[in-house]
Amino acid sequence: MSAKTPSELREQVRGEVVVPDDAGYDDARLVHNGMIDKRPAVVVRVANAGDAMATVAYARDNDLDLSIRGGGHSGPGFGTNDGGVVIDFSRMRGVRVDPTAMTARAEGGVTWGDFNTATHAFGLATTGGIISTTGIAGLTLGGGIGYLSRGFGLSLDNLVSADVVTADGKLLIASEEENADLFWAIRGGGGNFGVCTSLEYRLHPVQDVYWGPMFYEIEETENILRFYRDFIKDAPEAMGAFPAFQIAPPLPFIPEDRHGDMFIAIVGCWSGPPEEGERRFKAFHEVAEVKAEMVGRVPYPAINAAFDDLFPKGIRQYWKGNFVKELTDEAIAAHADHGPHAPTVSSTMHLYPINGACHGVAPDATAFGHRDANFAMVVVSAWGDPSDDAANIGWVRNYSDAIAPHSEPGGYVNFMDGDDNERVRANYGGNYDRLVEVKRRYDPDNIFRVNQNIVP
Ligand SMILES: Cc1cc2nc3c(=O)[nH]c(=O)nc-3n(C[C@H](O)[C@H](O)[C@H](O)COP(=O)(O)OP(=O)(O)OC[C@H]3O[C@@H](n4cnc5c(N)ncnc54)[C@H](O)[C@@H]3O)c2cc1C
Repeated sequence: MSAKTPSELREQVRGEVVVPDDAGYDDARLVHNGMIDKRPAVVVRVANAGDAMATVAYARDNDLDLSIRGGGHSGPGFGTNDGGVVIDFSRMRGVRVDPTAMTARAEGGVTWGDFNTATHAFGLATTGGIISTTGIAGLTLGGGIGYLSRGFGLSLDNLVSADVVTADGKLLIASEEENADLFWAIRGGGGNFGVCTSLEYRLHPVQDVYWGPMFYEIEETENILRFYRDFIKDAPEAMGAFPAFQIAPPLPFIPEDRHGDMFIAIVGCWSGPPEEGERRFKAFHEVAEVKAEMVGRVPYPAINAAFDDLFPKGIRQYWKGNFVKELTDEAIAAHADHGPHAPTVSSTMHLYPINGACHGVAPDATAFGHRDANFAMVVVSAWGDPSDDAANIGWVRNYSDAIAPHSEPGGYVNFMDGDDNERVRANYGGNYDRLVEVKRRYDPDNIFRVNQNIVP
């Protein structure tokens, strides 16, 4: 029988149940984005799959909103809510690597930092995000784009199976062999279909990579973006590189008199033999004069932590994303108009390549929309002072609006903000109708609705 009150729930679970009167409630209710100031009625720091099952039943039977929090990085703050229930995985951080099978099974609260360091010990890795504190669960279930995507596909392309607590409170295994429709849907459909208590990944031999940001004068923007468009089209799949606007942070590799200046950058990553890296980066040095750089051979987990300091917990954030098929000259001109005005050192546009191995997967093989896109663009602003909200949100919106005519109507669900729910159909393109069918089968009452929601 499901619990009726938080006290009854406390009796049922092994983990911690936090309510508003408890010391530590503020810590339990807050997520990564400092703009989100919500007050759930109950936060359950689950200790095992049984806790997740009990908490799903509690939310369902008491008709309460239910948030699932993996790493807590959702831009719109889907990892918390007002007056509802939160399943918080922050205590479930175990990773078990099987070096022979080249797989890893990771619990629902594992971050990419946890995952990468665990697999690195065996010289193995899989596609993950570029910040170490992001959760593997939310990132993978929406897609998963990072330095290794061109080589090994999206994170979700490397998912072998998942343990999923569904709306009826049962635990199912989802894989190609078991509950294949559910497995199809969770690979792109985010948290719409259930609570993943653990995820199993395919790994690849990656130990050290040749990596680093290269900064060019902002006047080179159009030149760099045109070069990058042509370069990445046919680059070997081991090349993961993306352009970014970046205000120079006060770091030793940047001349002191340039700190605070805006640059156009390319962040390169060669995951083939590291000794080839210098040669593979040659083109980045030929296209224009590099004014500052920090490139070299680096252990893979380190590159996924390189930008962590720009995104501390509590920083205010606003996000927009678009899929892009062709980076036209008109689009490049729009980037050159808007990118250089990024308001803070943590605000940027990244243009991630999703060609290469991402195109090797059929468009309907997983729920991820837009396999035909070549880039996933994100515009994100991050800042500290609430009085700067309007300026930062305005920059993201204007930039995104200017790029929209040169992009697909949909974008990557994990780069969408809270005001993007009407774009869900477009985000999934031709896969949307099948997602609705699977949603009706597994979650007809829309228990899992605190997300970019697929309405049953
Ligand atoms: C600083 C920063 C850097 C980022 N970098 C990248 C990047 O390099 N590549 C990229 O692809 N994306 C990136 N993102 C976007 C990221 O993929 C999404 O924000 C993602 O939702 C974060 O997952 P999470 O588990 O940390 O978030 P949470 O807020 O915990 O969860 C987000 C959503 O995922 C679902 N979810 C989470 N955990 C589970 C679970 N265990 N079971 C079922 N559903 C679950 C829920 O529906 C939830 O609403 C970044 C975000 C931030 C803030």
